[in-house]
Amino acid sequence: MAEKRDYYEVLGVDKNASEDEIKKAYRTLAKKYHPDVNHEPGAEEKFKEINEAYEVLGDPEKRKTYDQFGFAGMDGAQAGNGFGGFSQGFTSGSFDDLNDIFSDFFGGGFGGSTRSSRRSADNGPHKGQDVQMRMTISFMDACFGTTKTLDLDVDEKCTACGGTGAASPSDIETCPTCHGSGYVVTQQRTMLGIMQSQSVCPDCRGSGKRIRRACPKCGGRGYTREHEQVEVRIPAGIDDGQMLRVAGKGSHGTNGGENGDLYIVIHVEEDSRFVRQDKNIYLNVPVSAVDATLGTNIDVPTIHGDVTMKIPAGTQDGTQLRLKGQGVPDLHDGRPGDQFCTIQVQIDKKLSPREKELYQQLKELQDNQKKSPWEAFKQKFSGR
Ligand SMILES: [Zn+2]
Ligand SMILES: [Zn+2]
Repeated sequence: MAEKRDYYEVLGVDKNASEDEIKKAYRTLAKKYHPDVNHEPGAEEKFKEINEAYEVLGDPEKRKTYDQFGFAGMDGAQAGNGFGGFSQGFTSGSFDDLNDIFSDFFGGGFGGSTRSSRRSADNGPHKGQDVQMRMTISFMDACFGTTKTLDLDVDEKCTACGGTGAASPSDIETCPTCHGSGYVVTQQRTMLGIMQSQSVCPDCRGSGKRIRRACPKCGGRGYTREHEQVEVRIPAGIDDGQMLRVAGKGSHGTNGGENGDLYIVIHVEEDSRFVRQDKNIYLNVPVSAVDATLGTNIDVPTIHGDVTMKIPAGTQDGTQLRLKGQGVPDLHDGRPGDQFCTIQVQIDKKLSPREKELYQQLKELQDNQKKSPWEAFKQKFSGR
Protein backbone atom coordinates (compact mmCIF):
# COMPACT_ATOMS: atom_id res chain seq x y z
CA MET A 1 0.00 0.00 0.00
CA ALA A 2 1.33 3.42 -0.87
CA GLU A 3 2.27 5.44 2.13
CA LYS A 4 -0.11 8.29 2.83
CA ARG A 5 1.30 11.74 3.04
CA ASP A 6 0.58 13.93 6.00
CA TYR A 7 -2.43 16.14 5.23
CA TYR A 8 -0.63 19.30 6.26
CA GLU A 9 2.21 18.36 3.97
CA VAL A 10 -0.23 17.71 1.13
CA LEU A 11 -1.67 21.22 1.44
CA GLY A 12 1.74 22.71 2.20
CA VAL A 13 0.56 24.46 5.32
CA ASP A 14 1.82 24.80 8.84
CA LYS A 15 0.34 22.64 11.63
CA ASN A 16 -0.86 25.85 13.25
CA ALA A 17 -2.34 27.26 10.05
CA SER A 18 -5.61 29.16 10.44
CA GLU A 19 -8.81 28.02 8.74
CA ASP A 20 -8.37 30.78 6.18
CA GLU A 21 -4.82 29.75 5.40
CA ILE A 22 -5.95 26.16 4.85
CA LYS A 23 -8.81 27.23 2.62
CA LYS A 24 -6.50 29.42 0.59
CA ALA A 25 -3.88 26.71 0.19
CA TYR A 26 -6.57 24.25 -0.87
CA ARG A 27 -8.04 26.60 -3.46
CA THR A 28 -4.66 27.36 -5.00
CA LEU A 29 -3.71 23.67 -5.24
CA ALA A 30 -7.14 22.52 -6.40
CA LYS A 31 -7.04 25.07 -9.21
CA LYS A 32 -3.58 23.96 -10.22
CA TYR A 33 -4.30 20.23 -10.30
CA HIS A 34 -7.91 20.17 -11.41
CA PRO A 35 -8.21 17.42 -14.05
CA ASP A 36 -9.98 19.83 -16.41
CA VAL A 37 -6.97 22.08 -16.41
CA ASN A 38 -4.00 19.87 -15.69
CA HIS A 39 -3.48 16.92 -17.99
CA GLU A 40 -0.08 15.92 -16.70
CA PRO A 41 0.29 12.35 -15.48
CA GLY A 42 -0.41 12.07 -11.79
CA ALA A 43 -2.39 15.30 -11.64
CA GLU A 44 -5.65 13.50 -10.96
CA GLU A 45 -4.17 11.53 -8.04
CA LYS A 46 -2.73 14.72 -6.70
CA PHE A 47 -6.13 16.40 -7.01
CA LYS A 48 -7.75 13.56 -5.08
CA GLU A 49 -5.08 13.71 -2.41
CA ILE A 50 -5.63 17.46 -2.03
CA ASN A 51 -9.37 17.00 -1.70
CA GLU A 52 -8.99 14.26 0.86
CA ALA A 53 -6.65 16.43 2.91
CA TYR A 54 -9.02 19.37 2.75
CA GLU A 55 -11.99 17.24 3.71
CA VAL A 56 -10.27 16.66 7.03
CA LEU A 57 -8.30 19.84 7.66
CA GLY A 58 -11.16 22.04 6.44
CA ASP A 59 -13.43 20.63 9.12
CA PRO A 60 -12.43 21.80 12.62
CA GLU A 61 -13.75 18.64 14.30
CA LYS A 62 -12.06 16.23 11.91
CA ARG A 63 -8.90 18.28 12.04
CA LYS A 64 -8.81 18.00 15.81
CA THR A 65 -9.12 14.23 15.61
CA TYR A 66 -6.45 14.07 12.93
CA ASP A 67 -4.10 16.20 15.01
CA GLN A 68 -4.58 13.85 17.90
CA PHE A 69 -4.56 10.46 16.26
CA GLY A 70 -3.23 10.92 12.74
CA PHE A 71 -4.68 8.63 10.08
CA ALA A 72 -5.60 6.10 12.72
CA GLY A 73 -8.30 8.52 13.85
CA MET A 74 -9.70 8.97 10.37
CA ASP A 75 -11.08 5.51 9.77
CA GLY A 76 -14.20 5.35 11.88
CA ALA A 77 -16.87 7.78 12.81
CA GLN A 78 -16.08 7.74 16.50
CA ALA A 79 -12.37 8.20 16.21
CA GLY A 80 -10.65 8.25 19.51
CA ASN A 81 -12.51 5.48 21.28
CA GLY A 82 -10.24 2.80 22.53
CA PHE A 83 -7.35 5.11 21.95
CA GLY A 84 -7.67 6.84 25.26
CA GLY A 85 -4.51 7.34 27.15
CA PHE A 86 -2.41 6.72 24.14
CA SER A 87 -0.36 9.82 24.73
CA GLN A 88 -0.06 9.21 28.42
CA GLY A 89 3.48 8.92 29.52
CA PHE A 90 4.75 10.84 26.57
CA THR A 91 3.84 14.24 27.85
CA SER A 92 7.20 15.66 28.70
CA GLY A 93 10.27 15.86 26.62
CA SER A 94 11.83 17.10 23.45
CA PHE A 95 14.43 16.51 20.75
CA ASP A 96 16.50 18.20 18.14
CA ASP A 97 16.49 17.14 14.57
CA LEU A 98 14.99 13.71 14.77
CA ASN A 99 14.93 14.01 11.03
CA ASP A 100 18.66 13.52 11.09
CA ILE A 101 18.50 10.52 13.33
CA PHE A 102 15.79 8.71 11.49
CA SER A 103 16.39 9.55 7.88
CA ASP A 104 19.32 7.14 7.76
CA PHE A 105 17.52 4.28 9.41
CA PHE A 106 14.00 4.59 8.19
CA GLY A 107 14.29 6.59 5.02
CA GLY A 108 11.75 8.90 6.55
CA GLY A 109 11.78 12.32 8.07
CA PHE A 110 9.53 15.19 7.28
CA GLY A 111 8.12 18.39 8.49
CA GLY A 112 9.84 21.61 8.85
CA SER A 113 10.32 22.88 5.38
CA THR A 114 7.04 24.71 5.45
CA ARG A 115 7.42 25.99 8.92
CA SER A 116 11.02 27.10 8.94
CA SER A 117 10.47 29.14 5.82
CA ARG A 118 7.75 31.02 7.63
CA ARG A 119 9.91 32.17 10.43
CA SER A 120 8.69 35.61 11.28
CA ALA A 121 9.76 38.39 13.55
CA ASP A 122 7.35 37.13 16.20
CA ASN A 123 9.56 36.71 19.22
CA GLY A 124 7.22 34.60 21.34
CA PRO A 125 7.79 30.92 22.06
CA HIS A 126 7.42 28.61 19.07
CA LYS A 127 6.55 24.97 19.10
CA GLY A 128 9.19 22.77 17.50
CA GLN A 129 8.74 20.93 14.24
CA ASP A 130 6.98 17.62 14.01
CA VAL A 131 9.01 14.71 12.84
CA GLN A 132 7.97 11.45 11.27
CA MET A 133 9.39 7.99 11.46
CA ARG A 134 8.39 4.62 10.08
CA MET A 135 7.91 1.53 12.18
CA THR A 136 7.49 -1.97 10.83
CA ILE A 137 5.43 -4.34 12.95
CA SER A 138 4.42 -7.95 12.45
CA PHE A 139 1.02 -9.00 11.14
CA MET A 140 0.02 -10.46 14.51
CA ASP A 141 1.20 -7.41 16.48
CA ALA A 142 -1.06 -5.29 14.28
CA CYS A 143 -4.00 -7.62 15.00
CA PHE A 144 -3.56 -7.80 18.75
CA GLY A 145 -1.60 -4.67 19.65
CA THR A 146 1.71 -4.47 21.40
CA THR A 147 4.07 -2.10 23.14
CA LYS A 148 7.32 -1.07 21.50
CA THR A 149 10.21 0.67 23.16
CA LEU A 150 11.96 3.27 21.06
CA ASP A 151 15.51 4.38 21.75
CA LEU A 152 15.54 8.06 21.00
CA ASP A 153 17.89 10.97 21.35
CA VAL A 154 15.66 13.82 22.40
CA ASP A 155 16.42 17.49 22.90
CA GLU A 156 14.73 18.15 26.21
CA LYS A 157 14.17 21.62 27.54
CA CYS A 158 17.16 22.43 29.79
CA THR A 159 16.21 21.86 33.40
CA ALA A 160 18.69 24.45 34.67
CA CYS A 161 17.43 27.44 32.69
CA GLY A 162 13.95 26.28 31.69
CA GLY A 163 14.79 26.76 28.03
CA THR A 164 15.85 30.39 28.21
CA GLY A 165 19.54 29.60 27.73
CA ALA A 166 20.52 32.16 30.39
CA ALA A 167 22.53 31.44 33.55
CA SER A 168 19.90 33.29 35.60
CA PRO A 169 16.78 35.33 34.82
CA SER A 170 18.72 38.54 35.42
CA ASP A 171 21.07 37.56 32.62
CA ILE A 172 18.28 38.07 30.10
CA GLU A 173 18.08 41.57 28.76
CA THR A 174 16.18 43.24 25.98
CA CYS A 175 18.04 43.21 22.69
CA PRO A 176 19.48 46.72 22.25
CA THR A 177 19.41 46.51 18.46
CA CYS A 178 15.70 45.89 18.03
CA HIS A 179 14.53 46.97 21.51
CA GLY A 180 12.85 43.62 22.01
CA SER A 181 10.67 43.62 18.94
CA GLY A 182 12.73 40.96 17.17
CA TYR A 183 12.82 42.83 13.88
CA VAL A 184 14.53 45.82 12.42
CA VAL A 185 13.20 48.35 9.91
CA THR A 186 15.54 49.67 7.28
CA GLN A 187 14.87 52.62 4.97
CA GLN A 188 16.25 52.89 1.49
CA ARG A 189 16.07 55.86 -0.83
CA THR A 190 15.17 54.69 -4.31
CA MET A 191 14.00 56.28 -7.51
CA LEU A 192 10.45 55.63 -6.44
CA GLY A 193 10.85 57.28 -3.08
CA ILE A 194 11.71 55.93 0.35
CA MET A 195 11.27 52.17 0.62
CA GLN A 196 10.82 50.65 4.02
CA SER A 197 11.56 47.02 4.67
CA GLN A 198 11.35 44.91 7.77
CA SER A 199 13.65 42.02 8.55
CA VAL A 200 14.51 39.71 11.42
CA CYS A 201 16.92 41.34 13.87
CA PRO A 202 20.42 40.08 13.06
CA ASP A 203 21.64 40.36 16.64
CA CYS A 204 18.99 38.32 18.46
CA ARG A 205 17.69 36.44 15.39
CA GLY A 206 14.16 37.45 16.26
CA SER A 207 14.06 36.51 19.92
CA GLY A 208 14.12 40.12 21.08
CA LYS A 209 16.41 39.14 23.93
CA ARG A 210 20.08 39.13 24.63
CA ILE A 211 21.70 36.71 27.05
CA ARG A 212 24.50 38.21 29.09
CA ARG A 213 25.75 34.99 30.67
CA ALA A 214 24.88 31.69 29.04
CA CYS A 215 23.49 28.80 31.06
CA PRO A 216 26.44 26.56 31.93
CA LYS A 217 24.43 23.37 31.58
CA CYS A 218 23.18 23.80 28.03
CA GLY A 219 25.70 26.39 26.82
CA GLY A 220 22.89 28.81 26.01
CA ARG A 221 21.03 26.52 23.65
CA GLY A 222 18.08 26.11 26.02
CA TYR A 223 17.92 22.35 25.56
CA THR A 224 20.06 19.32 26.22
CA ARG A 225 20.21 16.15 24.23
CA GLU A 226 18.96 13.21 26.27
CA HIS A 227 18.91 9.55 25.48
CA GLU A 228 15.46 8.21 26.23
CA GLN A 229 13.51 5.05 25.98
CA VAL A 230 9.98 5.85 24.95
CA GLU A 231 7.22 3.28 25.18
CA VAL A 232 4.71 3.36 22.37
CA ARG A 233 1.47 1.47 22.70
CA ILE A 234 0.39 0.04 19.35
CA PRO A 235 -3.40 -0.42 19.55
CA ALA A 236 -4.94 -3.72 18.41
CA GLY A 237 -6.43 -3.44 14.93
CA ILE A 238 -4.01 -0.88 13.56
CA ASP A 239 -3.54 -1.17 9.82
CA ASP A 240 -0.79 -0.53 7.34
CA GLY A 241 -0.21 3.16 6.64
CA GLN A 242 -1.88 4.49 9.78
CA MET A 243 -0.06 6.95 12.01
CA LEU A 244 0.43 7.23 15.73
CA ARG A 245 1.39 10.44 17.47
CA VAL A 246 3.79 10.65 20.36
CA ALA A 247 3.34 14.09 21.86
CA GLY A 248 6.38 16.20 22.59
CA LYS A 249 9.01 13.96 21.01
CA GLY A 250 9.58 16.05 17.90
CA SER A 251 12.13 18.80 17.38
CA HIS A 252 12.82 21.26 20.18
CA GLY A 253 10.92 24.52 20.24
CA THR A 254 12.43 27.98 20.12
CA ASN A 255 12.29 30.72 22.74
CA GLY A 256 11.12 28.26 25.36
CA GLY A 257 8.39 26.81 23.12
CA GLU A 258 7.27 23.21 23.46
CA ASN A 259 8.67 20.39 21.39
CA GLY A 260 7.00 19.28 18.20
CA ASP A 261 5.44 15.82 18.04
CA LEU A 262 6.68 12.54 16.73
CA TYR A 263 4.51 10.79 14.18
CA ILE A 264 5.02 7.08 13.66
CA VAL A 265 3.85 5.68 10.34
CA ILE A 266 3.01 2.03 10.82
CA HIS A 267 4.03 -0.51 8.23
CA VAL A 268 2.45 -3.93 8.78
CA GLU A 269 4.30 -6.96 7.44
CA GLU A 270 2.31 -9.38 5.33
CA ASP A 271 1.51 -12.83 6.62
CA SER A 272 2.31 -15.90 4.54
CA ARG A 273 -1.04 -17.52 5.40
CA PHE A 274 -3.67 -14.93 6.30
CA VAL A 275 -4.82 -12.09 4.10
CA ARG A 276 -6.27 -9.13 5.96
CA GLN A 277 -8.71 -6.59 4.58
CA ASP A 278 -9.66 -4.01 7.20
CA LYS A 279 -11.19 -6.09 10.00
CA ASN A 280 -11.71 -9.30 8.03
CA ILE A 281 -9.36 -12.19 7.38
CA TYR A 282 -9.41 -14.25 4.19
CA LEU A 283 -8.08 -17.76 3.96
CA ASN A 284 -8.18 -20.49 1.31
CA VAL A 285 -9.02 -23.87 2.85
CA PRO A 286 -8.37 -27.07 0.89
CA VAL A 287 -10.94 -29.85 1.37
CA SER A 288 -10.84 -33.29 -0.26
CA ALA A 289 -13.54 -34.12 -2.80
CA VAL A 290 -14.81 -36.87 -0.52
CA ASP A 291 -15.09 -34.52 2.50
CA ALA A 292 -16.80 -31.87 0.38
CA THR A 293 -19.27 -34.49 -0.86
CA LEU A 294 -20.03 -36.15 2.44
CA GLY A 295 -19.51 -33.16 4.73
CA THR A 296 -17.18 -33.04 7.74
CA ASN A 297 -15.80 -30.93 10.57
CA ILE A 298 -12.30 -29.49 10.17
CA ASP A 299 -9.99 -27.45 12.39
CA VAL A 300 -9.33 -24.20 10.57
CA PRO A 301 -6.45 -21.92 11.57
CA THR A 302 -7.48 -18.40 12.55
CA ILE A 303 -5.42 -15.57 14.00
CA HIS A 304 -6.93 -16.58 17.36
CA GLY A 305 -5.93 -20.26 17.01
CA ASP A 306 -7.66 -23.28 15.50
CA VAL A 307 -11.47 -23.17 15.25
CA THR A 308 -13.71 -26.07 14.29
CA MET A 309 -15.71 -25.37 11.16
CA LYS A 310 -18.52 -27.48 9.70
CA ILE A 311 -18.21 -28.30 6.01
CA PRO A 312 -21.78 -29.16 4.97
CA ALA A 313 -22.33 -32.17 2.72
CA GLY A 314 -22.29 -31.15 -0.93
CA THR A 315 -20.06 -28.10 -0.49
CA GLN A 316 -18.98 -26.76 -3.89
CA ASP A 317 -15.54 -25.56 -4.86
CA GLY A 318 -15.18 -21.81 -4.24
CA THR A 319 -17.86 -21.68 -1.54
CA GLN A 320 -17.12 -19.00 1.05
CA LEU A 321 -17.83 -19.97 4.65
CA ARG A 322 -17.79 -17.39 7.42
CA LEU A 323 -16.30 -17.80 10.88
CA LYS A 324 -18.01 -15.02 12.77
CA GLY A 325 -15.89 -12.93 15.11
CA GLN A 326 -12.61 -14.60 14.13
CA GLY A 327 -11.23 -11.49 12.41
CA VAL A 328 -9.23 -8.50 13.61
CA PRO A 329 -10.52 -6.30 16.46
CA ASP A 330 -11.80 -2.88 15.43
CA LEU A 331 -9.30 -0.14 16.20
CA HIS A 332 -11.95 1.99 17.87
CA ASP A 333 -14.50 -0.27 19.54
CA GLY A 334 -12.59 -3.55 19.71
CA ARG A 335 -15.36 -5.52 18.02
CA PRO A 336 -13.78 -8.20 15.84
CA GLY A 337 -14.33 -8.75 12.14
CA ASP A 338 -14.89 -12.18 10.60
CA GLN A 339 -12.81 -14.78 8.87
CA PHE A 340 -13.92 -15.83 5.40
CA CYS A 341 -12.80 -19.28 4.29
CA THR A 342 -12.86 -20.05 0.59
CA ILE A 343 -13.22 -23.78 0.12
CA GLN A 344 -10.92 -25.29 -2.46
CA VAL A 345 -12.10 -28.78 -3.35
CA GLN A 346 -9.08 -30.94 -4.11
CA ILE A 347 -9.41 -33.66 -6.71
CA ASP A 348 -7.06 -36.57 -6.13
CA LYS A 349 -4.38 -36.84 -8.77
CA LYS A 350 -3.04 -40.19 -7.71
CA LEU A 351 -5.26 -42.99 -6.51
CA SER A 352 -4.29 -46.23 -4.85
CA PRO A 353 -5.58 -49.36 -6.63
CA ARG A 354 -8.20 -49.76 -3.90
CA GLU A 355 -9.39 -46.17 -4.21
CA LYS A 356 -9.57 -46.52 -7.97
CA GLU A 357 -11.64 -49.63 -7.55
CA LEU A 358 -14.07 -47.85 -5.25
CA TYR A 359 -14.41 -44.89 -7.60
CA GLN A 360 -15.06 -47.35 -10.42
CA GLN A 361 -17.82 -48.96 -8.39
CA LEU A 362 -19.28 -45.56 -7.60
CA LYS A 363 -19.27 -44.67 -11.29
CA GLU A 364 -21.07 -47.87 -12.23
CA LEU A 365 -23.61 -47.23 -9.52
CA GLN A 366 -24.23 -43.66 -10.69
CA ASP A 367 -24.35 -44.67 -14.37
CA ASN A 368 -27.18 -47.02 -13.62
CA GLN A 369 -29.08 -44.74 -11.26
CA LYS A 370 -28.97 -41.20 -12.50
CA LYS A 371 -27.95 -38.92 -15.26
CA SER A 372 -24.38 -37.69 -14.96
CA PRO A 373 -23.85 -33.91 -14.84
CA TRP A 374 -22.28 -34.21 -18.28
CA GLU A 375 -25.35 -35.82 -19.77
CA ALA A 376 -27.61 -33.22 -18.16
CA PHE A 377 -25.43 -30.50 -19.62
CA LYS A 378 -25.49 -31.98 -23.11
CA GLN A 379 -29.23 -32.40 -23.03
CA LYS A 380 -29.60 -28.64 -22.86
CA PHE A 381 -28.16 -28.40 -26.35
CA SER A 382 -30.00 -31.32 -27.87
CA GLY A 383 -33.05 -29.33 -28.92
CA ARG A 384 -31.15 -27.15 -31.38
ZN1 LIG B 1 20.21 25.77 30.20
ZN1 LIG C 1 17.20 42.05 18.44
